[in-house]
Amino acid sequence: MIPRTIFSSDHELFRDSVRKFLEQHAVPFHGQWEKEGHIDRALWNKAGEAGMLCSHIPEEYGGIGADFLYSTVVIEEVGRLGLTGIGFSLHSDIVAPYILHYGSQELKQKYLPKMVSGEMVTAIAMTEPGAGSDLQGVKTTAVLDGDEYVINGSKTFITNGFLADLVIVVAKTDPAAGAKGTSLFLVEANTPGFSKGKRLEKVGMKAQDTSELFFQDVRVPRENLLGQAGMGFAYLMQELPQERLTVGIGALASAEAALQWTLEYTRERKAFGKAVADFQNTRFKLAEMATEIQIGKVFVDRCLELHLQGKLDVPTAAMLKYWGTDLQCKVLDECVQLHGGYGFMWEYPVARAWADARVQRIYAGTNEIMKEIIARSL
Ligand SMILES: Cc1cc2nc3c(=O)[nH]c(=O)nc-3n(C[C@H](O)[C@H](O)[C@H](O)COP(=O)(O)OP(=O)(O)OC[C@H]3O[C@@H](n4cnc5c(N)ncnc54)[C@H](O)[C@@H]3O)c2cc1C
Repeated sequence: MIPRTIFSSDHELFRDSVRKFLEQHAVPFHGQWEKEGHIDRALWNKAGEAGMLCSHIPEEYGGIGADFLYSTVVIEEVGRLGLTGIGFSLHSDIVAPYILHYGSQELKQKYLPKMVSGEMVTAIAMTEPGAGSDLQGVKTTAVLDGDEYVINGSKTFITNGFLADLVIVVAKTDPAAGAKGTSLFLVEANTPGFSKGKRLEKVGMKAQDTSELFFQDVRVPRENLLGQAGMGFAYLMQELPQERLTVGIGALASAEAALQWTLEYTRERKAFGKAVADFQNTRFKLAEMATEIQIGKVFVDRCLELHLQGKLDVPTAAMLKYWGTDLQCKVLDECVQLHGGYGFMWEYPVARAWADARVQRIYAGTNEIMKEIIARSL
């Protein structure tokens, strides 16, 4: 196997602590959280105390100014353990950067420390019932009225939506201007007129509190606009590569874990007087999966190196997101097959991971949209 060279001994020490934290505070309860449709709110505070949230945030806003590899460690360990209810990465690696990069000094001071500590859970609301891939079709509006913006509209499929205390809302400040009329707002969940719909019942990721959100004459101070009015689309384009990188990292971690479970299972399981792992078909499938995962991990690590240097471009991040999640789904499907009927039983981690994986090809930009982005760059 090709050794990974991007992580230092400090990263590996952090990995050990994250793994122990998750094994103690999340693994025993995740099954129950799947039934409840959300994780325990207190896990956010515990994770904050353990330094697992927003570690990249500079010290002046409560973080430790860590590099992106610390975030990577959290994503990989959450993925390895199949803890798909945990929305830490969306909060730390997707929402926090918008506030850090485009928020005013006041907004950063007000919100980032609470995000680091887990006092505030966050979400980002782009998708609407009528607009997902085509974000220019967003219908939610934000109209300036004196010193306040008045927001009206609805969002759906919002990760961390049910537990969120603070949401970045994508809204049109100038509906006639298309992409150039799109802006981003910070909206606190306790603002009058903001309500949460039902937690959505999903095929997988059942412990993830994906929700609908509604905005009826929600008034937010003018200062809650992130950056400049009309620049929302440009900010999204700037930040989406990191989101796609996080999805690619998680995809490979999940595929690798599934391969490990399958190795163990097929070595134990007997058929026709021998271990399932000894059939040539099994050996070839395992070899193919191990090879493709190895290729994927080398690609992940190269993308990470580029990202650390600020050089990961949009099409390359799209390649990782599309190829990595397609690979994850293919591997999970083969792993279920090699488990036989047990692979379809919810109590088996491989069954859950298979169900959880499917959406990876859909969110963070569908894989078709990723191919469009790649094709445009050729
Ligand atoms: C579990 C879950 C969590 C999510 N979390 C969030 C979140 O936190 N925040 C958020 O804002 N959104 C979130 N989403 C929404 C997600 O990002 C969208 O579902 C996704 O972008 C696709 O949009 P859509 O569902 O409207 O599908 P559509 O855009 O209607 O697409 C339908 C099909 O058409 C294809 N298609 C569309 N346009 C093109 C094109 N130009 N060329 C080729 N094919 C095309 C798509 O690839 C897809 O196959 C989440 C979704 C899920 C299921």
